[in-house]
Amino acid sequence: MSQKYMNDISVILFAPSGFDRAAQGVAGEGRRLADAFGGRLHAVILGTPDQASANAIAAIANDITVIDDPRLADYQPELYLQALTQVLRPLAPRAVLMSNDTYSQELAPRLAHRLGGSAVGDAVEIRPSDQTLSVRRSVYGGKAEAIIELKRSPAVVWLRARALAPATPRADDLAAVSRAECQLSITNQLHLVERVVAATGETRLEDARVIVSGGRGIGGPEPFRDLEAVAALLSGQVAASRAACDSGWVPPSLQVGQTGKKVAPGLYLAVAIHGASQHLAGISDAKVIAAINIDPDAPIFKHCTFGIVEDYRKVIPLLRERLASAQR
Ligand code: FAD
Repeated sequence: MSQKYMNDISVILFAPSGFDRAAQGVAGEGRRLADAFGGRLHAVILGTPDQASANAIAAIANDITVIDDPRLADYQPELYLQALTQVLRPLAPRAVLMSNDTYSQELAPRLAHRLGGSAVGDAVEIRPSDQTLSVRRSVYGGKAEAIIELKRSPAVVWLRARALAPATPRADDLAAVSRAECQLSITNQLHLVERVVAATGETRLEDARVIVSGGRGIGGPEPFRDLEAVAALLSGQVAASRAACDSGWVPPSLQVGQTGKKVAPGLYLAVAIHGASQHLAGISDAKVIAAINIDPDAPIFKHCTFGIVEDYRKVIPLLRERLASAQR
């Protein structure tokens, strides 16, 4: 492994996602770490980024490598791994950072193995350490935290990136862009059967700035219309607990928690949600949690910034009316 680059950090970004909140968080953490080690930040982009994203990344990274090959147009884990291994091996970075989307979760451990490094997922913080890096991550559905020392380089880490601070862009000295030519051998090819495109016009739950979330205590599908109205007045999205999704009141895609989406809004309003650890595991990155629950002993009150002990059927209409009149 080349000593020359041992203080450098690489971040992997996916061009179709643009420079979204997750990419900003990964790049921000990468910049912070590279500065702490006195190294360079190298961005590896799969696909060709749009101009605005390319400019934004160039103002944060020191170097950019674009891997754009028609054979990588659809997600192909084996080919992605071949390409990333070929680009990253000569760079020999101390760490490779990715966000915690489903692609990264599949690619990161395999990439770490191919590069002879170590891997850890769901990190909320990375700290320089005497070894290679130490990573803080929540465990047991958010009930405890583990600090993990990664001793082998590169440390391949996928992060809860949406909660991480973006980097301050440089005004000049923009990163140079190079294009990688990769040798790809098509083995274990994934066959795409169907592509289902999510409804347009809505922000992804993971990127929503305000979320109004309903639990089993809501009592049925109709009250979710009232939560949708409140969410719309706050320019936010509706979500739900697993109990509400399992009841068939809202689609499973709205489930937040350990086995659902991990969200990081500025405001998460939990309506008639008990606050089980599996639900809390999905909202620990929210800046402000507010709760409405009829039970003063509901665990959600131990985790919220604001709480109202009341029947949600009294509070939600009032809230809706106040928000509507504030906008008139
Ligand atoms: P309940 O626990 O039934 O709570 C309903 C709440 O509503 C109560 O606190 C009650 O006081 C309140 N309430 C009732 N009526 C009113 C009213 N009129 N006004 C105000 N408040 C009222 N859960 C998730 O959410 N996400 C996950 O990803 C997830 N993953 C899981 C993974 C595993 C492996 C397991 C075992 C469980 C998982 N769960 C998950 C389920 C979790 O343990 C809880 O069962 C679930 O979160 C409970 O949902 P709830 O709070 O909506 O319902």
